[in-house]
Amino acid sequence: MKHKACELVHTRNYFVEHFICKHLTKTCVWIATSCNRSMSETILSVSGLEKYYGTFHALKGLDLEVKRGEIFGLLGPNGAGKTTMIRILVGLIKPNKGTVRYFDKIDLKDLNDALPRIGSIIEEPRFYPYLSGKLNLQVSARYYPKGITKQRITDLIELVGLTGRESDRVSTYSQGMRQRLGIAQAMLNDPEIIILDEPTNGLDPKGIIELRQLIIRLKEEFGKTVILSSHILSEVEQMADSMAIINKGVCVSQGNVSELLSKNSVSVSLETDDLAASKVMIEAMGYSVTQDQKAINFNAELDAIPNVVSKLTAADHKIFRLDHRRKLEDYFLKLTAA
Ligand code: ATP
Repeated sequence: MKHKACELVHTRNYFVEHFICKHLTKTCVWIATSCNRSMSETILSVSGLEKYYGTFHALKGLDLEVKRGEIFGLLGPNGAGKTTMIRILVGLIKPNKGTVRYFDKIDLKDLNDALPRIGSIIEEPRFYPYLSGKLNLQVSARYYPKGITKQRITDLIELVGLTGRESDRVSTYSQGMRQRLGIAQAMLNDPEIIILDEPTNGLDPKGIIELRQLIIRLKEEFGKTVILSSHILSEVEQMADSMAIINKGVCVSQGNVSELLSKNSVSVSLETDDLAASKVMIEAMGYSVTQDQKAINFNAELDAIPNVVSKLTAADHKIFRLDHRRKLEDYFLKLTAA
């Protein structure tokens, strides 16, 4: 009898355990797949995008892929084609060729279906300067047929750090405050994607930091996907998860920011008391070295630099300066200098 009871308890426990395991596993799998799905879901894909202004070929077949919930940086020197790209994305101009697809299903021809889910600031936010920040938001709110509540406007003013200044005329706002008000305006409708064209342009260092923090909050606290353009590598590096480098209408590099800017591979510039002799010695270590009037230059793994330095100093070479830059950074600086 005792044995039977044990068996019964055991069987029941097994059943309960099995039931819990089965369902927990199912739940875990469901959570995992839905997390993976949201983290890896493509929210915007651009393929073969081309744009001509008259005979000028401004975009020459651009491809991009932006994932939901990431900050995506469009990086490029002046005239690269960033604004052209962004204007196409929000329907201000039409491409000559290529496809743009939002939310996995909405093409440019049906952009009106996607636009309510997208907020943007193109070039710079525009306001009525003699109205207050709050009144400007109330005016913009009238364009949304479903209406924007007063509370939403108050919350957005707080989010962008304008509480206390919301009743002041916009003409009294700093450039940074205007940009932040622009973000509040772009967020009115609680869009899934926010597109910002050179958001830190013309801001002082304090304004840049405040805006950067706000953009990161949009992603981290509100789950927004942010697409921003910039011609400053460090800015994209500090904010973006992924980036595309555009130059002369062509995408020259794209991917995860930290992978692209891998700290390991660097270009080194070295100044010593005898450049020619140091060049010979570094070449003997297996590096390909170039020399200009002031320095010798070579590519190396970051970890290998101390070894190079100790060999040079052991051979009595006096090192006056050693700089290194990550290769992509070097490449981008060359692009922007051109
Ligand atoms: P910036 O950072 O200077 O704004 P960008 O990367 O945003 O540069 P775009 O504004 O997209 O570059 O311009 C790309 C190229 O297309 C530039 O050479 C620009 O002169 C040209 N371009 C842009 N708009 C027009 C236009 N309406 N008509 C003719 N050419 C144009």
